Amino acid sequence: MRCPFCKKDNDKVIDTRPSEDGSAIRRRRECLGCGKRFTTHERLEEMPVRVIKKNGRREPFDRSKIHTGVLRAVEKRPFSIEDVEKLVDEMEREILDQSEREVSTRDIGELVMAKLRAVDEVAYVRFASVYREYSALEEFINEIRTFNPNGKTNGDKE
Ligand SMILES: [Zn+2]
Repeated sequence: MRCPFCKKDNDKVIDTRPSEDGSAIRRRRECLGCGKRFTTHERLEEMPVRVIKKNGRREPFDRSKIHTGVLRAVEKRPFSIEDVEKLVDEMEREILDQSEREVSTRDIGELVMAKLRAVDEVAYVRFASVYREYSALEEFINEIRTFNPNGKTNGDKE
């Protein structure tokens, strides 16, 4: 870990413990360069979750995608930044905590919809309409691809 004070990358760990909710490891470190102490939080990600897209491609699970969708859904609704974080944390934890290491975009969409529905009907309806439109578009693109198997669409890089 790079020391936030002197930027040297040389430290020893003096204490390790799980965070309150168990989703991260908190390490207290001492810099061997300047002697100052700092804390790092490491998320438990030894077994990353991969997302299976409709076309069968896999990509690493990306929390920010859920975050963006939820933010858009709760726009002008009575949600604080903290409320949104909590909600997204809950969704993320549910996805990362399951034993399956691969999850479909559909499963994620359903989970987000279920969670939103439980807290705000308007946010739920908004998310669901955007999600369904997106799903339909993705299906449409896949259909075109099967007609033209050599065709590439933008954003199709590995
Ligand atoms: Zn230092």
